[in-house]
Amino acid sequence: MDSIDYLVIAPHPDDAELGVGGTILLLRAAGHSVGVLDLTDGEPTPFGSPEARRRETDDATAVLGLSWRGNLGLPNRRLEATLESRAKLAGVLRQLRPRVLFAPYWEDAHPDHVAASALVDAARFWAKLTKTDLPGEPHFPQRILYYFSVHLRIHPRPSFVVDVSDHLEAKMRAVACYRSQFIEGRPATPPTLLDDLRDRARYWGWAIGARYGEPFVCREEVGLRSLRDLT
Ligand SMILES: [Zn+2]
Repeated sequence: MDSIDYLVIAPHPDDAELGVGGTILLLRAAGHSVGVLDLTDGEPTPFGSPEARRRETDDATAVLGLSWRGNLGLPNRRLEATLESRAKLAGVLRQLRPRVLFAPYWEDAHPDHVAASALVDAARFWAKLTKTDLPGEPHFPQRILYYFSVHLRIHPRPSFVVDVSDHLEAKMRAVACYRSQFIEGRPATPPTLLDDLRDRARYWGWAIGARYGEPFVCREEVGLRSLRDLT
C-alpha cells in the first residue's frame, strides 16, 4: 500500500459519496491522493445485493477518480467498535499513513454510523502506539473531519463548509451509481432522494456565498496558514 493524503472512512459503500463526494473530487483535482475505506459491504438492503453493490461501488470509484479503495469486511448492521475491529482499522491507518481522516458524524439514528464514528476515533489513537503487534510503523493522522451522511434530520453546526460548486455534478453522478440504494424501488416523483441531496448542497453553498457546499465538523480547532481561500 502506498501512503495517501486523505482517507475517507465509511460505514457502508455510498456514505463517502454522499458526505464527502464533492470534496473528494476537489482534492483529486488539486492533485492530492484520496482513498476510501468502506467498513462493511452495506448489504442486505431492500433493493440491493452484494454483487450489485460491488459493481455500483466500482462505478462510483471510477467517477471519483480515487487513488485507493478498500473494504475492511466488518459486519453490516452489526458494526461495533470492538477491540478486534479497532486493531484491524489501526493496521490499515499505519499502512496507508493518511494525514487527514474523514469519519461519519457521531450523532446518527443508524447504529453502524455511530459505531463507525467511535471506531475511527479509537483507531486513530491506536495507530500511533509503539510496542504492539499491529502492522506498519506508528502513525497519527493530524485531523479527523466529520462528515454528514446521517439518518437523522438534524441541522448541523459545521466548523467549516467546503465550496464544491465545480464538482457537484460529478458528485451527483457518483451517488447515482448506487441505483439499488437511491433509484430502484424509490418514488420517482420530485423531490427524490437525489433532489434532496442537491438541495442540501445548495443550502450549504448559500450559507457560504457559493453555489454548492459540503459541511464538516472538526472537534479540534481548525488552523489556517492563509486567509486566501476564505469565501
Ligand atoms: Zn451508511
